[in-house]
Amino acid sequence: MAIRPVIYAANWKMNLGPAAACRFLERFLEITSPLEGRSLWFFPPAVSLAAVSEAVRARPDIVVGAQNIHWEMKGAFTGEVSLPMVQEAGATAVLVGHSERRHLFGETDDQVARKTAAALNAGLTPLVCVGETLAEREGGRTEAVILRQLAPLLERVAADDWGRLVVAYEPVWAIGTGRTATPDDAAQVHELIRFTIARRGVPARIRILYGGSVNPGNVPALLARPELDGVLVGGASVNPDGWAELVGLS
Ligand code: PEP
Repeated sequence: MAIRPVIYAANWKMNLGPAAACRFLERFLEITSPLEGRSLWFFPPAVSLAAVSEAVRARPDIVVGAQNIHWEMKGAFTGEVSLPMVQEAGATAVLVGHSERRHLFGETDDQVARKTAAALNAGLTPLVCVGETLAEREGGRTEAVILRQLAPLLERVAADDWGRLVVAYEPVWAIGTGRTATPDDAAQVHELIRFTIARRGVPARIRILYGGSVNPGNVPALLARPELDGVLVGGASVNPDGWAELVGLS
């Protein structure tokens, strides 16, 4: 029987500079081995990308990605990093539209779509995050928000390219709060995303991860749902022993 491929993605946010990232990986690589059907994605801060890429060179099950990029390839954009720069540092994926980028830094749906299209053009795999706030969920607007966030992506990304990107459903109210969506809630939104994208004539089955306070206690129930292709994890991914436990659980 074929093993269902599962992605475990670690978003380190603004944690683990180059030296701390190397210490993390020294320990993590010592206590884990590649497993069929499981891929481990790390999104370190930009300054740690090169060190992380170098440290995991012998592990084909590990993907390294940037947490953010600009859609322009170069120019007068102080403080930004470009796709060629993160590629040079070893990244093959990029996180786009994380809720902290959208809500703390004002990133718009259209900017998220521009970054996604630029990443695909450059040959990187975008991991595009969507999700509603608590007020939006309580106001019955979850579906409308997800559709609004997907709309510019459907405009800018060609149908044939959707198979090369990954979507993460991350309800904002569940990120870093200790409050997780139930497996049913998550599965329902995953189905909505899949249906919306398929309706546009996208041929591939899209990979969709769930993110929001995932931990070793709740990951088995979440990944028991076939609608979920993996998880995107923040807080529970910055300790090597805890992360090794979580990725070994399902
Ligand atoms: C995230 O940062 O994408 C995330 C899901 O964070 P946490 O796991 O801490 O909720």
